[in-house]
Amino acid sequence: MPFITDLCAVYSAAGVHCIDLAADLAVVRAAREGLDWVEARTGSRPWVMVSISDGKDIHFRKAWFDPHKCPTDCPRPCQTVCPVDAINKTEGINLNRCYGCGRCLPACPLKLITEQAIHLEHADIGPLVTEIQPDAVEIHTASGRLQAFEQTVTALMSPKISFKRLAISFGHPRNNLGFEELAQELWERHNCLRRHGQKPIWQLDGRPMSGDLNLSTEKPALRLWQIIGPLTPPGPIQLAGGTNAKTIQYLPLTNHPAGIAFGGGARKLLQPLLLEAQTRGTTLRDWPEGWQKAVSLAKGLVNPWLSRHSQPKSCQTKSQNFITTKPTK
Ligand code: SF4
Ligand code: SF4
Repeated sequence: MPFITDLCAVYSAAGVHCIDLAADLAVVRAAREGLDWVEARTGSRPWVMVSISDGKDIHFRKAWFDPHKCPTDCPRPCQTVCPVDAINKTEGINLNRCYGCGRCLPACPLKLITEQAIHLEHADIGPLVTEIQPDAVEIHTASGRLQAFEQTVTALMSPKISFKRLAISFGHPRNNLGFEELAQELWERHNCLRRHGQKPIWQLDGRPMSGDLNLSTEKPALRLWQIIGPLTPPGPIQLAGGTNAKTIQYLPLTNHPAGIAFGGGARKLLQPLLLEAQTRGTTLRDWPEGWQKAVSLAKGLVNPWLSRHSQPKSCQTKSQNFITTKPTK
């Protein structure tokens, strides 16, 4: 939780427009602590968005194993591949740190690690958002799930909260669907949002949870945007899933998506400083030198996108530039 508070504070100070969090009250409280801290010093504050799903989705899972079953001489490859140090000898997987990337699952030679889906029932959505009061909600959806999407939106609307946007996250088409059929499904989701008086953000999830891998992971989101971008309904388009500092270099000069969502890449950038603060027994907010370094790193990621505001409108496909970070996903 202290990491989440620091991550949210740093990226808030760097100027992101939105922080995207797991729909978990403890996580949102930790994030708001960081946002309050920055707002008291700068007067600015990004939106808080929480994520839910209308079906099975890899963003909504945790890994688990029983550490008592591990041989004492195991070289612990699971621990080596975990990008957030969520695995340790005594407790196995720290569920507060695990964000479900799945990299440890194939790493165990004894196949001891399993995935556990996190599923929010429709009946629980209304009470949860009532308690959290987010500015925006992201709904992860996929082709073939229109009915589940509509039920999710209906559940979300039941407490009559005024959301600034609903972000619709989707990836490459599944079930042998083509891109045109996927676009048709997005238009049906657009119609659903309109019936409920909601405005969308279309989030193109290229290669989910891979932005920290440094393996050309930005390409799938860019390809998805090039193919599906012109077919999407009205609303800002964000690149997501595998995005990193290189993404902006691959954009054509005259035709840009509205914004970007950074996940694993943004976390990885600050991980050494977060760990150093922990080793010093403090937080980035209480360690001025670490804070300066962290904000400077975060600005290096965020500023090239913020500076696109100054480009002529004719160079942007949509009028709103929109930058999100995802500390817990
Ligand atoms: S799923 Fe990813 S974050 Fe979770 S323990 Fe495994 S490697 Fe770490
Ligand atoms: S790789 Fe498998 S056996 Fe080894 S420590 Fe990890 S979970 Fe245990």
